Amino acid sequence: MARETKLYEALGVSPDASDADIKKAYRKMALKYHPDKNPEAGDMFKEISHAYEVLSDGQKRQVYDQYGEAGLSGEAGGMGGINPEDLFSQFFGGGGGMGGMGGMFGGGAGGRRGPSGPRRGRDIAHSLKVSLEDLYKGKTTKLQVTKTIICVGCDGRGGKEGAVKGCSKCHGRGVEVVIRQMGPMVQQIQQACRQCNGEGEEIDPRHKCKKCDGRKTVDERKQLEVHIDRGMKGGQKVVFQGEADQQPGIIPGDIVIVIEEKEHSRFKRRGDDLFFEAEIDLVTALAGGNLHIQHLDDRVLDVSILPGESIKPGEMKMLQGQGMPSHRHHNMGNMFIKFNVKFPEANWAAEADIKKLEALLPARRPLAGLGKGAHVEEVVLSSVDAHHQKSMNNGDNDGMDEDYEDVHQHGPAGVQCAQQ
Ligand SMILES: [Zn+2]
Ligand SMILES: [Zn+2]
Repeated sequence: MARETKLYEALGVSPDASDADIKKAYRKMALKYHPDKNPEAGDMFKEISHAYEVLSDGQKRQVYDQYGEAGLSGEAGGMGGINPEDLFSQFFGGGGGMGGMGGMFGGGAGGRRGPSGPRRGRDIAHSLKVSLEDLYKGKTTKLQVTKTIICVGCDGRGGKEGAVKGCSKCHGRGVEVVIRQMGPMVQQIQQACRQCNGEGEEIDPRHKCKKCDGRKTVDERKQLEVHIDRGMKGGQKVVFQGEADQQPGIIPGDIVIVIEEKEHSRFKRRGDDLFFEAEIDLVTALAGGNLHIQHLDDRVLDVSILPGESIKPGEMKMLQGQGMPSHRHHNMGNMFIKFNVKFPEANWAAEADIKKLEALLPARRPLAGLGKGAHVEEVVLSSVDAHHQKSMNNGDNDGMDEDYEDVHQHGPAGVQCAQQ
């Protein structure tokens, strides 16, 4: 008769696996496929539980090895054997079996499946700063985390099998009732048992696990590979299921990596679009020329401004498809360029050349008409020195618009001051 291996395959072990291997495999798979963690994998969890139920029992395993699934149908056959949840609780209920952990679950488990199911551990969040370049190109980053894992020395029991007993003080409940007197009031409070630190169990010190000193868990450093997909945004999360701290009787939570976008020196990002501020010379704005933009990869974009295009200060133009890749879509955002036009310094040309320019440029608009009876007074512009300009701008020295607003806010005093 052909030997069946289906149950071994369900746990991902070979048919000559040791009891410890089978136990270890079940622990790993049960945590991974428990419906609390993985609601879509319901049948998988049942299969794993069934496989473990058979293979962890020496007699059943022998029958299975000899006759396959058919041989089992008499006793615990098919899927109708033990309730997978009960098996799970038994397994993760810690070494004591009853007492301790059972009591713990009985408390405020609050899970969906009522008081008998194990609790889910807390998620751990880390933030990861990512440059715009890496969000543009995509990257795999290694992240070192320290986490608590079930001690392999004692399988999370804290000591040799049988060395763990229910706490004598709290009888395994993990809590004790303390009477406290505050003035005339007598208060009864429940607190974690001090003898067992709320664990509900005690370990015979002679048989305590040396690896974890009876704590059941040890710290482990682990390297996670975080895949930054092209086009990811700040605030997006990369989840490592079940990688958070392990505790006996608890389904580990997730490690959640939250992407944080680093500020960029050249670009600002809005959604999938990039914004770039370019400074061009007046001659380029009027007579055309080129602009180089170093992109987020190794490309340099060569932007042509046509003669006569007449780019105005503050004008915005767009480069289609040169923005960020759209996360999980195949399109690209756009790049918006805001132009600042650098005007020449005062007295940059001889008067005769200015006259030539005047002849070339569009004619002046006529002055607005004067109202009837208007009194016209001729006035002279003075320069404002850098110091005054700065104090009027309140340290912010960009753009004429703000200058103008500041003068109005400060009123006549500010103007007078500037004219001195
Ligand atoms: Zn240990
Ligand atoms: Zn106790």
